[in-house]
Amino acid sequence: MLKLYNSLTRKIEEFTPVHPDSLNVGMYTCGPTVYDFAHIGNFRTYTTSDLLLRTLQYNGYEVDYVMNITDVGHLTGDNLGDADFGEDRMEKSAKKEGKSAWEIAAFYTDAFLKDYKALNLIPPTHLVKATDHIKEQIELVKTLEEKGFTYQTTDGIYFDTTKLQDYGRLSNLDEIKEGARMEVNQEKHNPRDFALWKFSYPNGTSRPARQMEWDSPWGVGFPGWHIECSAMAMKYLGPSFDIHVGGVDLRETHHPNEIAQSEAATGKQFVKYWVHGAFILVQGERMSKSKGNNYKLYDLEKQGFDAIALRYLYMQAHYRQEMNFSFPALEAAQTSLNKLREFVIRAEDVGEVPKIGCAEFERRFLDAINDDLNFPQAMAITWELIHSKYPNSAKLRSLLKFDKVLGLDLENAQIIHDREEAAEIPQEIKEMVNERKRLRNEQDFKAADQLREKIKRLGYELDDSEKGTRIKRIKR
Ligand code: AMP
Ligand code: ZN
Repeated sequence: MLKLYNSLTRKIEEFTPVHPDSLNVGMYTCGPTVYDFAHIGNFRTYTTSDLLLRTLQYNGYEVDYVMNITDVGHLTGDNLGDADFGEDRMEKSAKKEGKSAWEIAAFYTDAFLKDYKALNLIPPTHLVKATDHIKEQIELVKTLEEKGFTYQTTDGIYFDTTKLQDYGRLSNLDEIKEGARMEVNQEKHNPRDFALWKFSYPNGTSRPARQMEWDSPWGVGFPGWHIECSAMAMKYLGPSFDIHVGGVDLRETHHPNEIAQSEAATGKQFVKYWVHGAFILVQGERMSKSKGNNYKLYDLEKQGFDAIALRYLYMQAHYRQEMNFSFPALEAAQTSLNKLREFVIRAEDVGEVPKIGCAEFERRFLDAINDDLNFPQAMAITWELIHSKYPNSAKLRSLLKFDKVLGLDLENAQIIHDREEAAEIPQEIKEMVNERKRLRNEQDFKAADQLREKIKRLGYELDDSEKGTRIKRIKR
C-alpha cells in the first residue's frame, strides 16, 4: 500500500484513488515557465514527479499525467504571491534576447524537453501550453464571474479570496508577507486576491504593445498565472483528480489559488493529494542567477557528468528534505552509477538468462518506495542486493525490475558504455576501420585482415556483426 505525505492534511496518508476501486490515477505537475533554461532545482521537482509516477505504475496504476508549459502570464514578481506585478517573464526575455516572445517560448520549450529526456523522465500523457488554452481560461473566469467571485480594477479581473470559505488551507498563511503587496496594488480588495485576467492597456493607457495578448469579454489582455493550471488540469483530468505536484514554494500561493479558482467554479474538491518537493540548495545557499549558482544540465555535462548521475544524486535525498548540491557529491553519484552499469554489463556478459529475482529484496524495495517515496532507502537496498550472495542472474533480474522505478536506464548499460568508448576512439583508428570495410566490400580479404592486425597492434579489437563493426579498446 502506497503512503504519501499530503500537504493538505499535513499527514502521511494511504493512497486511494478518487474513483474508488479504480486503477486509474490523474496527476498534474506545474511545469516550467519557458523564458530561460530550467535549472537543477526545477529538475529536482520534475524528478520527484517522475519518481511518484513510476511508483504508481509499479503498484499497477494507470496514470494520466498532465504537465503544463507556462508560456505567458508569469510576471516577474516571485512565486510567493506578487505574481500579479512586474513584467511578463516571456516578454522581458524576448526583449533581452532580441527575439519574439513566441520564439523564446519555442526555444526554451525545446531545451526543456531535451533535458527532460536526458534525465530519463517519462513524458506526460498531455504536455499542454497555456497559450493553446486561452479559450478554456476565459471560460473559467466567466464561470467565476457568474458565480460572483470576481471584481474588476483598472488593470484586470481579480479573484475575491474572502468569498471562498477555507481559502488558503494549503499554505502556511502567516508566511505570506501581505504588507508589501498592499502597497503595490491599492485597488485590490484584499491583499491575497489575485489576477485572473490582466489588461494589456490598463485604464485605456497606451503602454508599449504586448506581443502576447488576446480578446476577452473584459478587454484585450492575457491570463493571470494561476488560472492556466486550473483550466488545463480540469480539462484533461476532470473537476476532481488524485495528485498535484510542485515545488514547495508553490504551496504558499500558486496552489492555494489553483484550489480557490477550481473549487469556486465547480463546488467540488479539486485535488485529493498535494505533494510538494523541497528545494535544492547549492553549498547551503538558495540558487539564483545573480549568485551564478543556478546550474543547468549543460553546466554539468560540460564537466563530463552524465544527466543520469544527477538523477542518481536526487534519489539520495528524500524529496521532502532540502538537499545540498555540490560537485563532489555529483562525482560520487557518477561513480556509483558507473558501478551499477558495470555490474549489469558483467552480469549480462556471463550469458545467464535471468530466471528468478531475489524476492526478499524486491519486497523491501517496494516497502521503501511505498513509504512516502523513500528513495534513499530504496537505493541502499539496491546496493545491499548487489553485494548479496544471490547468483548474478537473480540480482540482475531484480535490479532491472527496480530500475523501472529508479529510471537509471540500466537496461541500456552496454549501449551507453559502447557509445562512450566509441567517443574515445581516435579518428585514425576509425579511418582504418572504414578502409577495412572498403577492402572487404571489394573482396580483398587479405589486405582487410592485415589491416585488422594492424588495428589490433594499436590496441583495438574489431567485432563484426550484421549491425556493423564494433570497435573495442583492448584492456591491458
Ligand atoms: P518555475 O519555472 O519557477 O515556475 O519553477 C518550476 C518548478 O520548479 C516549480 O515547481 C518550482 O517550485 C520548482 N523549483 C524552483 N526552484 C527550485 C529549487 N531550487 N529546488 C527545487 N525545486 C525548485
Ligand atoms: Zn500550477
